[in-house]
Amino acid sequence: MNHLSLATLSKVLLSRSNNFDSAAGTTGVSGISIDSRTVQPGDLFFAIQGQRLDGHEFVKQALERGASACVVKQQLVSENNSAQLLFVDDVNQALTRFAYWYRRQQSATVIGVTGSVGKTTTRNMIYTALAPYLKGVQSPANYNNEFGVPLSIAQLESVHQFAVLELGASQAGEIRSLAEVVSPEIGVITGIGPSHLEHFGTLQRTAEAKAELFEQLPVSGLAIVNGDDAYADFLVSRSPAPSFRIGLGEGNDLRAVAVRQEENGLTFQVDGTSFVIPVMGSHFVYPALIAIAVGKVLGLSNQELSDSLREYEPVRGRCHVELVGDWTVVDDAYNSSPVSMRAACELLSEWPTPGKRILVMGDMLELGPDSPGYHREIGKKVACSTIDRLYVCGAQAASVAAGALEEQFPAGCIVQGADVEEIQADVFSGLEPGDVVLVKGSRGMRMERLLEYLKQQV
Ligand code: ATP
Ligand code: MG
Repeated sequence: MNHLSLATLSKVLLSRSNNFDSAAGTTGVSGISIDSRTVQPGDLFFAIQGQRLDGHEFVKQALERGASACVVKQQLVSENNSAQLLFVDDVNQALTRFAYWYRRQQSATVIGVTGSVGKTTTRNMIYTALAPYLKGVQSPANYNNEFGVPLSIAQLESVHQFAVLELGASQAGEIRSLAEVVSPEIGVITGIGPSHLEHFGTLQRTAEAKAELFEQLPVSGLAIVNGDDAYADFLVSRSPAPSFRIGLGEGNDLRAVAVRQEENGLTFQVDGTSFVIPVMGSHFVYPALIAIAVGKVLGLSNQELSDSLREYEPVRGRCHVELVGDWTVVDDAYNSSPVSMRAACELLSEWPTPGKRILVMGDMLELGPDSPGYHREIGKKVACSTIDRLYVCGAQAASVAAGALEEQFPAGCIVQGADVEEIQADVFSGLEPGDVVLVKGSRGMRMERLLEYLKQQV
């Protein structure tokens, strides 16, 4: 973050007359934090009231770790060291207000990424494509909500030329609020699918919620969309900015052709330039095309983008390939939804292996009343692929198994359990050298526990 004085910050944040005197106002702030455990000297600590914890309880700790000052609600703090306390009516709002203001002090081109599936992958792919040529920042980890977005924005400094930020939402209106803060010049919607359906209700409503990003674009901006997505026309109809479609279909502005999964990665061509992305899974062609589109808009050539994308490293938990003992484990345990689950089945089916293809699947959560149907469909998909064994756990395990059996998947090749711990020993005992195991489930299923277990066995 650029160095700021507390006097400047108090003007930005204060919603009531202040305790700040001018001497304290010259103190510098060099970063922001909402977690007292990771406060760095010089940070401004926002005492956020979360669902579980209240930051006001950690003000003392934040100051001890060297925070320049803390943004607090006066009634909630016992300390009265007013030189280091900045009183506001609502700390959460103050954080948003800070981010809104700070973003507008920056000249970097901001790229906002949302969509039902693949935000983190796409954000990371864009950053990888641009980073060797342009100075920029990206959202850390999965920082995509009302707290993560301000923290991401605070990484910006005047030297930066771009910021690629992930915007997440589980209900209508959230993307609008985040996009107002982020004020992106380039908006990206990765696609619309049944994720968080429990909150959105229908796919149309999901599309409307994601379209809030495009609605916030300036006329001079650009709306990048997956042109192969059924909602592409609807999404771009909401954008005051011109649109740019990427995909495999003929009508797209940027198309990949000759898409092939090779041993060294996914290969394809764009306008005569060859690309090799060191990943397994043809669904990665979409984030790659989005990254190429953004790169071209920012003045990079196809060859430059081909060179940088060759260095892409999958994010842990998203189709991340690891060798564990004599087995290949595809760690896709970070999250799951019908779209990414289908992509995972296809990836596993195409995996070149002398051994067995094994799917270990946990529930896809938050799908609402149609959840059993979505799980049954995945079971059918498994049966119609070249997957050899299906280990399935969670409340919907029976639906997945029923779908698989309906399509004649051999009953002897299905193992069901309530939880990953119930099936892990079976998975291990069935493994032979050369097997490939793909592990996937929604975040709440914590399927990464299987990886830990397997690693302990070797
Ligand atoms: P979250 O909302 O949980 O932050 P996200 O939108 O950031 O998720 P990622 O974390 O990038 O999405 O990916 C989630 C899952 O979807 C991973 O399993 C990933 O491999 C898969 N995935 C990523 N892109 C695509 C795509 N275009 N099509 C299908 N699956 C995809
Ligand atoms: Mg994400």
